[in-house]
Formats: sequence, structure tokens, C-alpha cells
Amino acid sequence: MRPLPELTAENTAFWTGGARGQLMIAFCDHCQNAIHPPQVICPACQSRHVGPRAVEGSGTIYTYTVNHQPWMPGMVVPFAIAVVDVDGARGVRVTAPVTGCEADAVKIGQRVRIAFEPSGEVWLPLWMPLERTAA
Ligand SMILES: [Zn+2]
Repeated sequence: MRPLPELTAENTAFWTGGARGQLMIAFCDHCQNAIHPPQVICPACQSRHVGPRAVEGSGTIYTYTVNHQPWMPGMVVPFAIAVVDVDGARGVRVTAPVTGCEADAVKIGQRVRIAFEPSGEVWLPLWMPLERTAA
């Protein structure tokens, strides 16, 4: 239902980590900068020693938008799309739909956890409110 990304050498870890339930973020081995979207060269120090690492998979909603427009057939609306500050990867924000709660229950500052939805050869990220998963 969602448009699928094209897999490249640098982004494959991010898009396939969901197979193991892992949120994979690219880090520079030289300066420890977290890089997202993934790139082969660190934008901070130009090192090519960049590789994916699994992070905790939790984060905090920085901002969000609610989509009311069913812009693809079969799309269920409304749903929230959140931009999330990822724990353990300073400066990295991952944008994904929110699942597991009503769109109007999503709030800035809310704690969320990554989930994945398989689609073809990729695993699409979703954010899930932590309060609900604990229940
Ligand atoms: Zn670097």
C-alpha cells in the first residue's frame, strides 16, 4: 500500500533490519556521527568508514501530521505520520506512520517504539505508542 523504497548498498540495512526486528541506523566509525538517511560517506568528517548498527528502537515524537486523504486505493484514513527523534542516534529522525492508536491520540513528546510491516523485500517502519504496547 505504501510506495516502496529502492534498495541500495547504503540503505539495505535500514530497509531490511525489520526482518530481525531491528532498527538499523548508519553510524560513522571515525567520529560516531549517526547518519540518516544512510550514506556511504560521513557528512560530518568525510570518512568512508560508515556502517549500520542496531539501535534500541525507541524514540520520542518530534512532530507529526494527520493524513486525511486516501491517496492510494484501499488506504484507511485518517492516520498519523510521525517524525521521531531516535534514541541512541543523536540528530536522527525517522518518519513513519503511527499504528496502534487513533490518529487524534498522537502527541508531540509521546514515547514510541518501532514496529515493522513486511512488503516485498523490504520491511516498512511503523511507530507504535509505548503505553499501548505495555498494556
Ligand atoms: Zn564521521
